[in-house]
Amino acid sequence: MFWIGCHLSAAKGYLAMGKEAVQLGANVFQFFTRNPRGGSVKALDMKDVEAYCTFHKENNFGTLLAHAPYTINLCAAKEDLRTFARNTMKEDLSRLELLPDVMFNFHPGSHVKQGADVGIPLIADALNDILSTGGKTTILLETMAGKGSEVGRSFEELRAIIDRVEQKERLGVCLDTCHVYDGGYDILSDLDGVLKEFDDIIGLDRLKAIHLNDSKNPMGSHKDRHEKIGEGTLGLEGVANVINHPKLAHLPFYLETPNEAEGYAREIALLRSLRKND
Ligand code: FE
Ligand code: FE
Ligand code: ZN
Repeated sequence: MFWIGCHLSAAKGYLAMGKEAVQLGANVFQFFTRNPRGGSVKALDMKDVEAYCTFHKENNFGTLLAHAPYTINLCAAKEDLRTFARNTMKEDLSRLELLPDVMFNFHPGSHVKQGADVGIPLIADALNDILSTGGKTTILLETMAGKGSEVGRSFEELRAIIDRVEQKERLGVCLDTCHVYDGGYDILSDLDGVLKEFDDIIGLDRLKAIHLNDSKNPMGSHKDRHEKIGEGTLGLEGVANVINHPKLAHLPFYLETPNEAEGYAREIALLRSLRKND
């Protein structure tokens, strides 16, 4: 099965996102758990949650991806910001427990001049605290482009976080194709080599999702600017290699390209035409 979808606005609720996904030709989707640049969240509409659960089964949807807001930073320099980030993630996770099949993706953090060696233990401590509250949702660390003081710019940094977490069975990684290419991993001409490196350092069994994006910039730029599929430095060939790679093809793919609904529908149709062996 080709699990393909895109990022959708959660403003109208889960059922509305499910219906929009079907219209776009998708069978998975990603959404922000709350305003990506703000903190507040509105009360859960239980009728909507129940309606979505039915919809999910009837339409044979795959695993959804909930994305944490950008404003949280588990390794911020100030303690009150770190506490806010922990509490936000705990609250998001408790809400996600009600959904049928979902993973929770977040950006590991920004060490803001403290250094990754300070940031990494702070992130791991926070994850241990967050996971200690229980639940079943898998938490994914996103591979980052290495812009500014982002933690998670290399497979080694992600491994260092995972090493310090007790409940490792609830941790996974989401590989963002734009970010890893920006981070200096040559998924265009040596996808096999990059996946071998991922497997050696993190383990491919930890890889649970792909953010499928083209990039506006050359490899190693550390800029994090997503491009439409086929219009960036990865190009159609680079993207087709990713969706068809035997070690990746079973994973869910989520587009985060600069598009409105129409553009997403076109990209999903294009990707389906490029997909082999389904
Ligand atoms: Fe992200
Ligand atoms: Fe991403
Ligand atoms: Zn990005």
